Amino acid sequence: MQDRYSRQIFFNGIGEEGQRKLLAARLLIIGCGALGSAHAEAFARAGIGRLRVVDRDFVEPSNLQRQTMFTEADAEKRLPKAIAAANHLREINSEIDLEPYVADVNHSNIEQLIAGCDVVVDGTDNFATRYLINDACVKHKTDWIYGAAVGSYGVTMTIRPHKTACLRCVFEEAPPAASAPTCDTAGVIMPIISIVSAVQVTETLKLITGRTNELHGSLMQFDVWQNEWRKIALSAPHADCPTCGRGEFETLSPVSTETAAVLCGRDAVQISPSQPTSIDFRSLAARLRPAGDVKFNEYLLRFKTGPFELTVFQDARSIVRGTDEIATARSLYAKYIGN
Ligand SMILES: [Zn+2]
Repeated sequence: MQDRYSRQIFFNGIGEEGQRKLLAARLLIIGCGALGSAHAEAFARAGIGRLRVVDRDFVEPSNLQRQTMFTEADAEKRLPKAIAAANHLREINSEIDLEPYVADVNHSNIEQLIAGCDVVVDGTDNFATRYLINDACVKHKTDWIYGAAVGSYGVTMTIRPHKTACLRCVFEEAPPAASAPTCDTAGVIMPIISIVSAVQVTETLKLITGRTNELHGSLMQFDVWQNEWRKIALSAPHADCPTCGRGEFETLSPVSTETAAVLCGRDAVQISPSQPTSIDFRSLAARLRPAGDVKFNEYLLRFKTGPFELTVFQDARSIVRGTDEIATARSLYAKYIGN
């Protein structure tokens, strides 16, 4: 075994056999922003043999405060995050296989993306994609590790289909669109990213090396600013859970999830959320104000940020102007409106 992994091999939990398993493993990281790029770096250094990284976004200057993988040069070139990450990962560890995908993860590609992967690691920023991951991973009996961070708060949970509760067992519904803070409205500090990613990465190493008795088995929550750390024990899978109990994978069918449509000739895309809701424009405006120019009346809210303008209706349907690409519009919607 190469000298480069010697300190990890000396560690009792891994050893030579564990290192061989890491080198033989394939992981899928969905989303390569702050969490995803932290995961990717840790896995490349640990010698995970094959890393599949998928992200729909490009690097911007406002990412650099916490997305430690990326540099000013990446932001200047507006490189897709998956490509920028692969470039840096290759310099960190030239001996592993990297499979970057610049793509919006949705019902049409998620099952192909997880095929052949030992564990799926969440680096996304929205619930719609997490339910999609949950459905696909439960369907294919693939372990996955949920993780999220906003402000100074973070949460993570390790999901082993039919052995532990799944995401849908714990959170039956996503918070309605525009109801919860996102990193692009409430901000986020890097230390919480480091903590959540550290736990997700460690759980992945335990899964791959077969040390499943060491998994934390909880919904783990942290607030680094409020100094709160909590572990909520997880129940067994719920028999009445639509996903892991009844085997209904609604997000994998083409019609169920939020729909997006390019508005021809208008340089705009319309996004309709999967569940209609009723938005309080006053509180949404207050959250969006730090990120751009906001105006609203009783029917709609207009939000301008950089070259884009989002028009949000009361039912959370939105028109994103400034792009005719669905992936870009979805990404802006997830960032600012959330779901
Ligand atoms: Zn479930």
